[in-house]
Amino acid sequence: MDSVIQISYFIAAVLFILGLKRMSSPVTARGGIVWAGAGMLVATLITFFWPGMHNYALMTTAIFLGGIAAWWSGKRVAMTDMPQMIALYNGMGGGAAGAIAAVELLRGDFHSTTFLTLAILGALIGSISFTGSLIAFAKLQGWIRKPLRFPGQSWFNLAVFAAAAGIGGWLVASGEFSGSLIAVFFITALAFGVLMALPIGGADMPVVISLFNALTGLAVALEGFVLNNAAMIIAGTVVGAAGTLLTQLMAKAMNRSISNVLFSHFGASGGAEESVEGSMRPIDAADAGIMMAYAERVIIIPGYGMAVAQAQHKVKELMDQLLKRGVDVKFAIHPVAGRMPGHMNVLLAEADVPYDRLYDLEEINAEFARADVALVIGANDVVNPMARSNPDSPIYGMPILNADQASNVIVIKRGQGKGFSGVENALFFGDNTRMLYGDGQEMTGELISAIRQV
Ligand code: NDP
Repeated sequence: MDSVIQISYFIAAVLFILGLKRMSSPVTARGGIVWAGAGMLVATLITFFWPGMHNYALMTTAIFLGGIAAWWSGKRVAMTDMPQMIALYNGMGGGAAGAIAAVELLRGDFHSTTFLTLAILGALIGSISFTGSLIAFAKLQGWIRKPLRFPGQSWFNLAVFAAAAGIGGWLVASGEFSGSLIAVFFITALAFGVLMALPIGGADMPVVISLFNALTGLAVALEGFVLNNAAMIIAGTVVGAAGTLLTQLMAKAMNRSISNVLFSHFGASGGAEESVEGSMRPIDAADAGIMMAYAERVIIIPGYGMAVAQAQHKVKELMDQLLKRGVDVKFAIHPVAGRMPGHMNVLLAEADVPYDRLYDLEEINAEFARADVALVIGANDVVNPMARSNPDSPIYGMPILNADQASNVIVIKRGQGKGFSGVENALFFGDNTRMLYGDGQEMTGELISAIRQV
């Protein structure tokens, strides 16, 4: 039976890896989710046959309750709420790793100091990821609105972390597993997760979630060694590596370092000190439609507002209308447009926008100077030229889409609302920019009607 179990865990791990591979393209991504899900099913079912396993009723109840909660929340969640959903699920992974370590520590039956050290490390990292992810969830959900900061906070946090690590070290060195010491160890580790996430602004939460994701993967892999479970080791390592790469990718796309994300309190000031001279000039949909209908080249830039407005299907219709008139239409996708990497790609793929019309920042930026119209739909920070020109701006250095270089810029947004970073956008005040005020979906619909009438 033992070899059947090991082979099943191996198959599960292969399914995780193949599933992840398929997720690298929108065309195969849905299949990738199913493959990875099948891997999880295999791993869960085979665990029932683990030698000495008991408590079947408890296990089945837990799987049933967890399954119902996941099914219900997965069905209900809006695309715009996906980051907090990921935070919550990720936190559960960290918590599970911590719980495994707690059980093993209370049993105190370790083959060697190495396994004990791995268990302690996994417990520390998993616990931090658990509470940190819960705080990230609460922030993105709007339950915690303000970052909590106080003087000497970094030192205080460091002291709490040192206490948790110190107690962990003591447990390893002494080999004595007193329940109260283990409890204090977990309390300090859990507290550090909360303290670490509390001062970070909401704008940086997706990066922090990705970081916690990497930590959860690491914790699961460490506990996999303790339990001698191949599926946990491989899945944990894959999640850890993917989370690390994603964190780096996001930080790079914002031109920020990880330490800057964790400690700089970006976006906290709300950018109130930023001011741009001039005024924003409105346009109505009829005039904007005429401008686009007679254009040769149009570049569409979607952003978070397109996701909020669920305007992707209308945007596809707009593309079709323009193509019918012989207009060349391309989409410029910024790596952090929206609230998670790939956010825009997923929405546009859902609306059947062909993938070869989507261009990355590096591919498209040189083309703006030749474009007749750049149509910005609910994007803000990712098209802010201050990132290029104003060294005092908090977003200075962030790679942006050069929409301002197009002959004409039309911006669809509801009002004067700022972007995620809270910074004023110089693009909206440009001589070649016109603001089409209104909801993304409604205004795109009006543009389509206007173009049809030309
Ligand atoms: P922003 O958040 O900068 O701006 C979105 C704009 O959409 C707002 O100015 C808002 O203006 C407008 N908007 C909101 N709702 C609607 C609606 N219903 N119809 C039309 N417009 C609407 O979005 P971007 O995509 O440009 O930038 C993403 C930001 O998120 C960046 O700062 C990025 O660094 C950050 N971020 C992204 C991550 C990622 O992985 N994607 C990760 C971490 C951070 P108004 O209220 O006036 O309508």
